[in-house]
Amino acid sequence: MSGAAMILVHGGAGDMDPAREGDAIAGCEKAARVGDAVLRQGGAALDAVVAAVRVLEELPHYNAGVGAVLSREGTVEVDAAVMRGSDLAVGAIAAVPNAANGVELARAVLEDGEHALLSGEAAWRFLRESGFYPATADELITERSRRRLEAERARRAMGSLGEPDPGTVGAVARDNSGSVAAATSTGGTTFKRAGRIGDTPLFGCGTYADDRGGAASATGHGESIIRVAMAHVASVAMARGDAQAAAEAAVAALDRVKGRAGIICVDPAGRIGIAHNTRSMPVAWMGTADDEPGSQARAKR
Ligand code: ASP
Repeated sequence: MSGAAMILVHGGAGDMDPAREGDAIAGCEKAARVGDAVLRQGGAALDAVVAAVRVLEELPHYNAGVGAVLSREGTVEVDAAVMRGSDLAVGAIAAVPNAANGVELARAVLEDGEHALLSGEAAWRFLRESGFYPATADELITERSRRRLEAERARRAMGSLGEPDPGTVGAVARDNSGSVAAATSTGGTTFKRAGRIGDTPLFGCGTYADDRGGAASATGHGESIIRVAMAHVASVAMARGDAQAAAEAAVAALDRVKGRAGIICVDPAGRIGIAHNTRSMPVAWMGTADDEPGSQARAKR
């Protein structure tokens, strides 16, 4: 199949400090470039989204990998998922402590194929067998994630709830063969209870990919995203219409639960959709239309 290869990444929906937005967008552009290079070399959409999300996990600006937010006990528990649209292959990890590259672990679950989702400390038994090891808390916890936890603790003590904590990362891609894939990785929400699992590793909620519809990665208030199965809403809508309309329909679905979130989408034709009802959601994308080689990374708030 011909048409445009495409990679689109996000750095989390929420109320990002405007002073941090430049870094967040620059990181998304870097990730889009890395994913684009994979696609240009003929790589699969799944390879591209994993490579792109890995870049974002390694940068400290996001709520994933280094810089992941902390539970109310001060621990890092990671959720991540990958999905391939050609055969609906899935892999995810949930509430896995001290995972530096959740997206690689999710991919290991997918490649193994026995289960869709592994959770908690016990997941490390399989992951170690697959050659992965936990990071130390010191490697993942940043001064900023500690400050975010204390600020949230203080806010809760005052009885107020803000916008979702920005910084979850995700990517969707369409490869040269016309297949799509999605990946999402997060530390969850600041001050979450230990053991809490958000939308990210739940297929159809934070992450979904189907070549008969499209790929989607959601971000924002996980408990709301779960209630409307947001990524599945987008994928089904892409089977009927264009990707931008699908992204908007998925965000509109949040109205019923008053949810605050955003989503990125790509369909098997390589068209993209971006929508959010939060103040910001850094994104970047790169595409290689047959008639338009060498297009650039672009970003918007
Ligand atoms: N959706 C993520 C969660 O609830 C958080 C986020 O996207 O900011 O775990």
